[in-house]
Amino acid sequence: TYIIAEPCVDVLDKACVEECPVDCIYEGERMLYIQPDECVDCGACEPVCPVEAIFYEDDVPDEWEPYVSANADFFDDL
Ligand code: SF4
Repeated sequence: TYIIAEPCVDVLDKACVEECPVDCIYEGERMLYIQPDECVDCGACEPVCPVEAIFYEDDVPDEWEPYVSANADFFDDL
């Protein structure tokens, strides 16, 4: 899965939402989140993010590693 990290906080540009072919990017209060079970790893969202907040899960910078579980946990709480 791809995940959204800290640069998205309080930005929520949503260019990625337009690109996602399976509509698996959801809006939270302060950032957008990718539903990991729905993401098909197409990568379409990553280059359109104006703040480079989107990463393939294995490529997330160490400092933002907590966002991998944060994306998944967002959907547990719904
Ligand atoms: Fe959607 Fe593709 Fe991005 Fe996954 S990688 S969130 S399927 S656009």
